[in-house]
Amino acid sequence: MKIDLEDALSNNKYILDEEILPEFDNMEVRGINKPVYEASPVKLHLEHRGKRSVYITADASICILDKCDRCLKDVYIPLEIQTEHLYKEEEAQDPDNTAFIENNILDVDDLIKGEILTEYPVKVLCKEDCKGICPFCGKDLNPGDCGCKDQDKNLRMASLIDSYLKNKEV
Ligand SMILES: [Zn+2]
Ligand SMILES: [Zn+2]
Repeated sequence: MKIDLEDALSNNKYILDEEILPEFDNMEVRGINKPVYEASPVKLHLEHRGKRSVYITADASICILDKCDRCLKDVYIPLEIQTEHLYKEEEAQDPDNTAFIENNILDVDDLIKGEILTEYPVKVLCKEDCKGICPFCGKDLNPGDCGCKDQDKNLRMASLIDSYLKNKEV
């Protein structure tokens, strides 16, 4: 949702409290599109702060559905967003200040998306010690070993290195 901030910038009695549902059901995180699993309404507060400036706060709970980096199982990423900004029209050229405001139009979705990116975990794991999947048979190693013997794995690795070196020589 987009909100024209003109009133908030000019009217010194301006206060707005509103609950706004996010309008995106997926978003790009580090180049990969992830579905939004659940989202609460965004609690948005706008307040005039003198001389063409607006104080903005937004709270929201959002849950993104992602996949474990190691075993590819579904992982839910719950995020609590709490953010505040002081927007000054005269500083509107500052990209930090205007990523979600363009020509004094506030884009609530962009504001929330920016916060999600800041809060997003660097590593997505189903559990801290996820064992991942076997690179040879593809089995999930968390319930137990797959049966590929270490010897086989070593042999396979040796032959891979071997063919790699041969290819290099040609
Ligand atoms: Zn995992
Ligand atoms: Zn295996």
